[in-house]
Amino acid sequence: MSNDKLRKRVLSGIQPTGRLHLGNLIGAVENWVKLQEKYDCFFFIADLHALTTAYDDSKALKNDIKQVAIDLLSAGLDPGKCVIFRQSDLSEHAEMHLLFSMITPVSWLERVPTYKSKMDEIKGKDLSTYGFLGYPVLQAADILIYKADFVPVGHDQLPHIELTREIGRRFNYFYGDVFPLPKDLLTDFPTLPGTDGRKMSKSYNNAIALSDSPAVIEQKISTMVTDPARVKKEDKGHPAICSVFEFFKIFAGNKKGTVEKECKAAERGCVACKKELAQYVIKYLEPIHQKRAELEKSPEAIDVMLTEGAKKAKIIAAETLFEAKRAMGLLL
Ligand code: SF4
Repeated sequence: MSNDKLRKRVLSGIQPTGRLHLGNLIGAVENWVKLQEKYDCFFFIADLHALTTAYDDSKALKNDIKQVAIDLLSAGLDPGKCVIFRQSDLSEHAEMHLLFSMITPVSWLERVPTYKSKMDEIKGKDLSTYGFLGYPVLQAADILIYKADFVPVGHDQLPHIELTREIGRRFNYFYGDVFPLPKDLLTDFPTLPGTDGRKMSKSYNNAIALSDSPAVIEQKISTMVTDPARVKKEDKGHPAICSVFEFFKIFAGNKKGTVEKECKAAERGCVACKKELAQYVIKYLEPIHQKRAELEKSPEAIDVMLTEGAKKAKIIAAETLFEAKRAMGLLL
């Protein structure tokens, strides 16, 4: 990472709810890999956030954190260019969260769109917890404690960033200007469908993991939903409503014209189409698989990398927390 103070700071995190999948790669991590060249980037594995929903079963968390770290490095994040750390290694995040929780009206949290939608999405679990409601306050602490200039987000995350700014603004109003307000770095990435046509997500069990073997990738792609009106090969297809075609656009851009033409003319069968797609996806993931195989040989190096990342992050987080506490009158 450059120490060039003129570089703007970027902050983003990802939850360790299992292995990273293609949706994470296309929707976030590939962008992070580009951002690390241009900004002072801090990327964290949001294990405390994972506990807001996985509080009743955290046995897998330790391994998931390591696997996500391996996924991030395999996908191209470079600890020489950015800081990668585990959120819970820094108690400053939790403390900042507590301080922000004192000034955040509950009504602000209740009207965050993802609060209700996630509750509906995650069935069979009691999410009426204090931690789940306060998720955006922790997120505000994650961002503001680094005085981040930018936060890369998709459209669905915009209300969270706005809330972060609201909390920062309210703090500054009460206690004086401590927190610069971050801007969103809006990136219009396509939302990758999962194998069932819904948004790719671990909780829908429809994801293709970066670490899936070629055989598993082939198998998962073979089950993907296509144009539902197309029953036999002789039926003309509608690629615009086919998830397989969405994948072609991303993983085999130069092939999409041919696929579209052949599908519309009923010259291409869905089984063969999926087999072809699987080969493109396997090829796309080949460098990631190679890097992963190397990293898995020395898992202790991942722990060292995360510890080093936490040390670097702590320098900034501890300083901001000190400043915030002093502004609040908490220090002698
Ligand atoms: S041929 Fe390919 S693009 Fe067309 S409906 Fe079948 S899977 Fe989708």
